[in-house]
Amino acid sequence: MVESAIRAPHGFVLVTGPTGSGKTLSLYCFLQMLNAEARNVCSVEDPVEIQLAGINQVSVREKAGLTFAVALRAFMRQTRTSHGRRDPRCGNRGRRGEGHADRTSRTLDAPHERRPAAIARLIDIGVAPYNLASVLRLVTAQRLVRKLCEQCRAPSALPLDDGFHPFEPRSCAACHGIGYRGRVGVHQLMPVSDDIRELIVARAATHAISRAAQSRGMPALRDAAFARVREGVTSIAEAVEATEVE
Ligand SMILES: [Zn+2]
Repeated sequence: MVESAIRAPHGFVLVTGPTGSGKTLSLYCFLQMLNAEARNVCSVEDPVEIQLAGINQVSVREKAGLTFAVALRAFMRQTRTSHGRRDPRCGNRGRRGEGHADRTSRTLDAPHERRPAAIARLIDIGVAPYNLASVLRLVTAQRLVRKLCEQCRAPSALPLDDGFHPFEPRSCAACHGIGYRGRVGVHQLMPVSDDIRELIVARAATHAISRAAQSRGMPALRDAAFARVREGVTSIAEAVEATEVE
């Protein structure tokens, strides 16, 4: 789903999640996926956090007048006057990090079962529903969960309904007695299909958009976290905590 959204000739991908949920890393992964020699990839960032070779990254400097809009317009001019590159995809990879944008990203956070709240939020701040619907391709939500230490994790005494024994943290030298080592992302993806596009244009309530997405098979973020539990990657406690309604 991510591949198809970011490889489309134009469009907009919305990555949502609380501070510390790994959004920055996901966005850089997307840029890296697009980073091929024949393609001119430009990004406007606030600020640039990781330098990526081969990508034209611009940091927003509001005080110097270098806003998102100014940088995007410069990219679009460059695209129109550039004849050397066959596949210029400029201006559509804007990302906002912490700082000024922190409030924005916080307000874009929503309880996991109401993820499309980000859409309502964008409309609230003045984005025309028709414009949003025509460019939005994918909305993602994500959290990070701690990974169980593979050296010492152990099946729980109590099985789940279906007899599966989820793993629990123990303690060993490899994990310094913590029971966990490293973290992994838990993701919920909502492709913007035609029916969802129509709901956005009609300013449908968030729960209506959510229902439509779920009827098309979008799992709840918690279900995505529990899939990691069943893989033995993380514990139930961790999955529940990471996807708790804020
Ligand atoms: Zn361990």
